[in-house]
Parts: sequence; structure tokens; C-alpha cells
Amino acid sequence: MLNLKGAWQCAPTKRWWLYGLTLGLVLVFAFTTLAQPEGKVPVAYGSGGAVASVDADASRIGIEVLRQGGNAVDAAVATAAALGVTDPFSAGIGGGGFMVIYRHDLDRVITLDGRETAPMAVTPDLFRDPDNLAGESLPFFPNRISSGLAVGVPGTPLNWQTALSRYGTLSLAEALAPAIELAEAGFTVDDTFAQQVTRNQLRFAAFTSTQQLYLPNGAPPAVGTLFKNPDMANTYRLLANQGVNSFYRGEIAQAIVDTVQSPPTVEQPSFKVYPGAISLADLDRYQVRVRPPVVSDYRGYRLYGMGLPSSGGITVAQTLDLLASSDLGSLERAQALHQIIEAERLAFCDRNAYLGDPDYVDVPVMGLLNPNYLASRPLPTQAAAPCTTPGNPLPYQTDPSPSLTQAPAAVAANGQEGLSTTHLVTADQWGNVVSYTLTIESTGGSGMVVPGYGFILNNELTDFNTTVPHPNVPESGKRPRSSMSPTIAFAPDGRVLAFGSPGGATIITTVIGIATNLIDFRLPLSEAISAPRFSQRNGSTTTVEQAWVEQAGNNDLNNLSQLGHQFRMTEEIGAVTGLEQWPNGVIQVAAEPIRRGGGAAMVVNPRVE
Ligand code: GLU
Repeated sequence: MLNLKGAWQCAPTKRWWLYGLTLGLVLVFAFTTLAQPEGKVPVAYGSGGAVASVDADASRIGIEVLRQGGNAVDAAVATAAALGVTDPFSAGIGGGGFMVIYRHDLDRVITLDGRETAPMAVTPDLFRDPDNLAGESLPFFPNRISSGLAVGVPGTPLNWQTALSRYGTLSLAEALAPAIELAEAGFTVDDTFAQQVTRNQLRFAAFTSTQQLYLPNGAPPAVGTLFKNPDMANTYRLLANQGVNSFYRGEIAQAIVDTVQSPPTVEQPSFKVYPGAISLADLDRYQVRVRPPVVSDYRGYRLYGMGLPSSGGITVAQTLDLLASSDLGSLERAQALHQIIEAERLAFCDRNAYLGDPDYVDVPVMGLLNPNYLASRPLPTQAAAPCTTPGNPLPYQTDPSPSLTQAPAAVAANGQEGLSTTHLVTADQWGNVVSYTLTIESTGGSGMVVPGYGFILNNELTDFNTTVPHPNVPESGKRPRSSMSPTIAFAPDGRVLAFGSPGGATIITTVIGIATNLIDFRLPLSEAISAPRFSQRNGSTTTVEQAWVEQAGNNDLNNLSQLGHQFRMTEEIGAVTGLEQWPNGVIQVAAEPIRRGGGAAMVVNPRVE
């Protein structure tokens, strides 16, 4: 340790060096403190429970619920409801999500599938352009993503109700109360919020309701101003007073149907807005599914991930299994990175070809996760071209249900690195843990605020593949394949970990990155999260953050280039929150220090060092 007392007595030249160091430290401290938006601290230690989310108000609300005796599920719902107010372009009751819950008393992990569902009227040519004689699909931006066609029946309200009634202690009304207050009293607009509106200005300006709420006076709300959403408060109040059925069967259902079938466009929108076909019957029949998790083992850790219709758990498990035979931690860095990139490529090749809603397609999950099958897919020694032949897991498919008889053709990589969606984690004093990813798909979803109700409808149906045949084509009542990967893991030393991220298909590679950072490279949780990221999704290039290039350094980059790897730069990948809880109740909880404007990690009883 630096002994400052002694150091002050050193020679003048040394003293200048020390003045510099001290000043530097002060500046670094000031910078990191000031650079964090108010109340946002990315790492916290302590006990009694914890919450991490992208937003300080939301995390604070979750902590308050825990402080008042709520459990991790209660805190997760209350935090998510608050995010619906402060992070409305990523999450809210107009969307869906997946919640992974660890019940400590039962020592069981449960997953809740609150994924959006296609209306009954949907057919595989959902996005076909009616004006295109060649039968091509509507352009992705802005027509497909800002249409009624893209809106799936939201799952989030029923997911909250299901989580609370089965595993929580609060009523929906109690869990929503702090968010109602937040929507009514308002919150301070930060850079991220203002930027998200600015980036969506063209789409938001096409809808009267969205324009009114998010483009007051024709411009995004200014940073630092107070933003209130009284309609949102009233909608939450309706849910609180009349129950979740007001959303699926009551007046909110009617408002959703009206919005989707007759989008509230301005007189002359700058692009054509296509209506969709959600009906009252679609809302009425929506169900949350309680599903078994995908369980996998990696170097003594047991991971629980989200199963279908998310591709997350399966693809994470496959990738880690493909890596299991090499000791990444002791390999030369470039060699370890090469292996991860190639394992991701192979897993994505299978994902793109096989995975879809299990109620509609016969996905050979057991075969895909069978260790002998994965052992039959060796990693190449050089960078591979995009994989064109998925593996054939069918001989390894040992379940008795009827199965595919032939491996499907490979499908070109799809899925951008979106910046939408949000992930939160919670833990309570009883050892329960929640890992919850929720979304409205694009940042800003469909762009349509339900008039008078203050929330944005999702555009989740753009997660379907449009080229038939494919297990993930749009079908009546089907759930689009997701990449969301909320994860809970158990370490050999008894720690319980939870983590996840937004980011479209990069969610999967981000979660793999967190797992390898923690398990192979032995980084502390906060560093595992802040470390630069890369993502390979069976493309010809691997997407990397600028910081990753800097960290990799010339040597590693040269070595990787010599192996044939090519890179493409992107601004940022993902926005992780995570926690680890020791058997003695001590918790470390962490969020991003910088990405997405930084996140907020909090504990009930901060540990005094
Ligand atoms: N809709 C995406 C999914 O379910 C999440 C959106 C995103 O993070 O970009 O995988």
C-alpha cells in the first residue's frame, strides 16, 4: 500500500510526482463520480437483498420493497414496473419478457415465459408488402417495425401477476404503487432517455399519441427536466384496482385493439403505417407459461437459462459445452478468443436452423444439448467461414416424442445488435434470486403509444423470420423466437449468480462473455460486466467494441488475423446487470459503469469496509 505520510517527506522531484498522482486520483474520482448520472452507482456490496437495473429510481424502488419485507420476486416486479415509467423505450406493459426465479426454500429454479404472442389472424406472409408485385417483405425500417403488424399480444402484465401470485408476497396493486407515484411525480430526464427519443423522432412523430407524450413542442424532452406520465399512472392504477384482466379483457384491451387496428397516425405521416390484426379474443386468450429451465454444467458451475421460445438458454449452453474441453484460462489470449468465437459460430448455426416456438415446431433440444453430439462438432483451428451446414442432433435425440427426420438447411445469420430491452436482477434476505429480461423489442417498440394510456406497444413480431420454410416463421398464435438469456448460476463454492443483458441476438454472446469472464478468466463480477465485448453470430465478421480492440492489443489482433478472423466495430454491445450472493448472505451486485448511460446497483444493507 502507498504510505502517503512517508511519501510527503521524499525529495522535491519525487514530491512533484506524488502531487501529480494525488491530483490524478482526485480527478479520476471526480470524473467517475460526476460521470455517473445522479444516484447511479454501478457496484454495491452488502447484505439483506440487492437490486440492479439500468435506472436509479427503479433500483431504489426495488430496494425499498425489499426493505419493507418483500421478496426478490416482489422487488423484481416493482423494479420492472418503475422501468416501464423511466425506461419506457425498452420495457413496459406493452411488451414481454422472461423471468428466471431461484426459490431458495425449495432449491428450485423456475422460468416464466411472458413472451408476446402472434394474433390468431397472423400467417407466414405477415410482413409481405401488399404493394410489391414480386411479393417482397416490407422494408424493416420504418414500415415493418412501426406497424400494427409487428405488435404481439403483450405478456408483461400477466407475467407480473403470475410471478406475484405464485412466488411473491405482494399484490399487483402493492407492487405497482411506487411506480404509480413515480409516473405521477415525474423523474429527471437523463441523456439516455433524451437520446432514445431523438433517435426515434421520425417514428414517434408519425403518431399523435407518441408525439404528444414524447415530443412535447415538437422536440425531445430536455435533459434535466422533469418528465411525468399521468396516463401511465392511471393505467397502472386500473391494473391495481381492477386487476390484470383490465388489460386482457377490459378497457385497456379495447384501447390496444383500437391502436393496432387503426394506428393513431398524424394526418400525413412521413411513412406508410400498416395496421395489424390483434383482436379482443387474442388478448383474452393470452397465457403466461411456467416452463422448465435449460440446465447445463460448465467447469463445476450449474447454469439455469431460459428455454424456448427463447434461443438464449440453449445457445449459451451449447457454446459453453463446445468450449468445455479446452482450458480457456490457461490458453494464450488470442487462442482462447478464437475458440470462443468459433464455438459461438457453431452454436448460432444450429440456433438459426432449429429453434422456434416449441408449441409449433419440433425442436430437438435434447439432441442439441447432448454432450456426445457436441463432441462431434470440433472447433476449427482457423477462423471458419459462416457455417452453412447445421449439425445433425437427431441421432442424439433420445426423447420418445415424434421428431424431425432430417436436419434443416442452414439459415443466414440474422439479428442485429439492438440497444433495446432491459435486464434486472434482484436478491432477497432469504436467498431467493431473480434474473429478469424484459423488452418491447426495438428501442421505442412499435413507436405507438396507446392513446390515453401512456404506454408503448411492442414490435416483437419482427423477431420472426420472414423466409419460409423456417421454424421461426410467423404463425397464428405463435411466439417469436427470442434471444433473451436471463441466467442464474450456482458456483461450486455455493455462490448464487444472476446475470443477463439486452442487445438482440448479441444478448446470447454477452451472456457467454460474462460466464467465461467469471469462470474461465476469473474476473470479479463488476469487471466481468465492464470488460470490452465481442460477438460472433455465424457471420463473416466478429462484431467488437472499440475498447475490445484496444484491450486486445496489436499482438492478439495480429494473432487473430493470422487465424483468419475479421472484425467489425460497433458502438456498444449489451447492458448487463448481475449479482452474486454468498451462502452467508453477502451480496455483490453490479451494473454497467458506462454502457447505456450506466446502471444502478444497490443493496439493502451496504457493507461498511
Ligand atoms: N426482441 C429481442 C429478443 O427477444 C430483444 C430485443 C433486443 O434486445 O434488441 O431477443
